[in-house]
Amino acid sequence: MNLHETLSEIAADMAARTDRGQPADYIPELAAVNPAQFGISICLADGTQLSAGDSATPFSIQSVSKVFALAIALGRLGDQLWTRVRREPSGLAFNSILQLESEGGIPRNPFVNAGAIVTTDAALGQRPPKEYLAELLTFLRTAAADEDIHIDRAVARSETETGHRNFALAHFLKAHGNLTNPPDHVLGAYFHQCAVTMSVNQLARAGRFLAGLQHLIAPERARRINALMLTCGHYDGSGEFAFRVGLPGKSGVGGGILAIAPGRASIAVWSPGLNPQGNSQLGTEALEMLARRTGWSVFG
Ligand code: GLU
Repeated sequence: MNLHETLSEIAADMAARTDRGQPADYIPELAAVNPAQFGISICLADGTQLSAGDSATPFSIQSVSKVFALAIALGRLGDQLWTRVRREPSGLAFNSILQLESEGGIPRNPFVNAGAIVTTDAALGQRPPKEYLAELLTFLRTAAADEDIHIDRAVARSETETGHRNFALAHFLKAHGNLTNPPDHVLGAYFHQCAVTMSVNQLARAGRFLAGLQHLIAPERARRINALMLTCGHYDGSGEFAFRVGLPGKSGVGGGILAIAPGRASIAVWSPGLNPQGNSQLGTEALEMLARRTGWSVFG
């Protein structure tokens, strides 16, 4: 199989699709993104990178940022983080409030919004949000070997103005004693972290440490982040993603997905239209095609 041809075929197939899902509309800045776009990029173990489609176009990484925030939080707190966040799939929407009430303010996992807000609080520590965001950007720029990675302030503002559910989650967490910082500080950091923009070229490179192709964090930590991506990376669509693609993956409502073929490749896809679970519709279909053709599913 010629991987370069495979990527071109996938991009051509995706360009022809008419059913592309719906861009997220609860963040006004994201609703304005043209849904006709699709990009894919792969970094391989031999150091090569292959891309097709709109691979250099920056997009809002949104919840894909939760993977990098988790790496930073684990670096600061180590296993202590797991006293504040669990490691179970939620089976519920990304922004659900239901479980948090019945489970005493301990979120199911670091990738649902409640868990990501706790993770960001842990990554923040006692620092002002600005310092944490600078660390996050340095982490991403180092991982991607690219200085041209930034925060889109208009997206952050847009989400701050409409993020009522996230405010509700943060106050709920605070009421349960599971936030050390004031909710406003944590959410300021969280919204800006979600508003990082990257292209799939950059994102695929930034994911290499999770595939074991770059040493940025301890390998056993990367293994655990992969386990959480596989079981919890697509919200209530996580089981379906594992079934169809068979790779650890993390999606964001900007339409990006970072997928990891351990030891083999770091893969980033992007298409702004989402399926009903809030995961990129064409991104998922492209990864399914890629996994089938390469045989890279972790399940053999
Ligand atoms: N910033 C988004 C939110 O908290 C992230 C959700 C996502 O990308 O899935 O609503």
